[in-house]
Amino acid sequence: MNECIFCKIGSGDVPADVVAEGTDWVAFRDLDPRAPTHVLVISRRHVESLDGLRGDQGEDGGVLLDACRRVASATGISGGYRVVTNVGREGGQSVGHLHFHVLGGRQMGWPPG
Ligand code: AMP
Repeated sequence: MNECIFCKIGSGDVPADVVAEGTDWVAFRDLDPRAPTHVLVISRRHVESLDGLRGDQGEDGGVLLDACRRVASATGISGGYRVVTNVGREGGQSVGHLHFHVLGGRQMGWPPG
């Protein structure tokens, strides 16, 4: 039984504030936003993290990054934004399903914490 919350959002079984979607991906607003615009881009297919992405198994990182760009455009932050993916516990990943954070609407600091 698949208990992955992002898989359930990807399949539509769990509701989310969806801002855009494609055949293989869904973008929805983060429940705990860290910027005025904070959207998560996920693949519908379960992939644990960037570390598990395999181009030869149908998961196309380029498609997901293109989706991030589309989300930035659709949410009006194309002028400046950040795309982040956390990998593993030490990388700050709390949900074990590959996702890209698209953040914008405020000045970003560097380095991130
Ligand atoms: P990370 O810590 O990089 O794994 O990011 C996981 C993100 O998912 C966090 O920013 C959470 O606020 C967000 N999140 C967890 N559950 C949900 C949900 N059901 N809908 C929207 N965002 C969620």
